[in-house]
Amino acid sequence: MTTEPSVSRQQPPAADPAGVRGTVRAVPAYPFTPIDVPIKLDQNESPYDFPADLKVLATERMLARPWNRYPDLHADRLRARIAAFEDWDPAGVVVTPGSNVLIKLLTELAGIGQTVLTVSPTFSVYTLEAQLLGAKLVQVPLNPDFSLPVEGLKAALRENPPGVLYVTQPHAPTGFVDTGAAVREVVEAAGDWVVVLDEAYHQYSGTDDRDLVREGENRLSLRTFSKAWGLAGLRLGYALTSPRLAAHLRKLVPAFNVGVLAEAALEVALEHPGYVLERVEEVRRERGRILAALQDHPTWQVLPSQSNFYLLRTPDAEAAYQYLLAQGIVVRRQDKLPMLAGCLRVAVGTPAENDALIAAARAFR
Ligand SMILES: *Cc1c(COP(=O)(O)O)cnc(C)c1O
Repeated sequence: MTTEPSVSRQQPPAADPAGVRGTVRAVPAYPFTPIDVPIKLDQNESPYDFPADLKVLATERMLARPWNRYPDLHADRLRARIAAFEDWDPAGVVVTPGSNVLIKLLTELAGIGQTVLTVSPTFSVYTLEAQLLGAKLVQVPLNPDFSLPVEGLKAALRENPPGVLYVTQPHAPTGFVDTGAAVREVVEAAGDWVVVLDEAYHQYSGTDDRDLVREGENRLSLRTFSKAWGLAGLRLGYALTSPRLAAHLRKLVPAFNVGVLAEAALEVALEHPGYVLERVEEVRRERGRILAALQDHPTWQVLPSQSNFYLLRTPDAEAAYQYLLAQGIVVRRQDKLPMLAGCLRVAVGTPAENDALIAAARAFR
């Protein structure tokens, strides 16, 4: 007896269903292709897993929790833990599964029907969410040295209806850190726009804009456990802001959106944060070593960075990308972005991975 193949014989629809909003139809899917090679330097992750002994503790804690019950409505106990760690008012902390979710919610909060303002090039999620949700997107080009275009941003703040302003420190994808005075000037010019300081990588630069955030109720620092904490797989990010802005933001956060397993693991991480500092120190050392090692490369240029990634400017990004891939190293192309012709973005890996990258770069012809 033969079995019928279970594949559907239905043809795919010729056109998108009219019910799908035009802005959603117009936006391409998030541009990421997973590639399985030994050296993975394409997502700015920590190259090290969560310490094995802490994983055991986290697992024990997961086992002790009931899985049949819903978690806290708004990750309330976890918020209190994060607030204690950050020395922040728990009423001003908002937790979501990854800070990318907060970017979507901030676009809903302040962008729809209003303005999403950022620089160019910028982190793709800000512009993607603005386009998906149909917000007016305004981008001001960075200065040629990648510093904030302070005057251009101030003009855009004056000329557009209010909304949300994204400032990334350190900047992504350049790794540039602005002076405190430049950041302050932009933030203070923003009046009562919602101002987001995305500090996803702040441990690597040693910067912290919390004092600036504390000074205004409309300001928010966006943080994540995906990078320096090495917990991208858990999907947890958070905002530090005023109780007033947090209360509005929380209306947009789906109820019960942090599960008990991630919560249990994060509690253990927050109780043992020492491992983060050691790793951040290593990234800083390695970043300096890579820059020095490739300083006199005949054709590739490493751009200085304050983060856990750096840009490699090459004469031909496609050729350089394919060459590294053939050596078992995957990086991220950024060469289609404004100002970044020829650029690849490379995460700082383990010392051995960085050695492999340096050796491959030196051998490139
Ligand atoms: C990686 C990154 C984040 C963090 O995203 P998660 O959803 O928390 O993993 C936020 N902002 C920028 C600029 C990033 O590069």
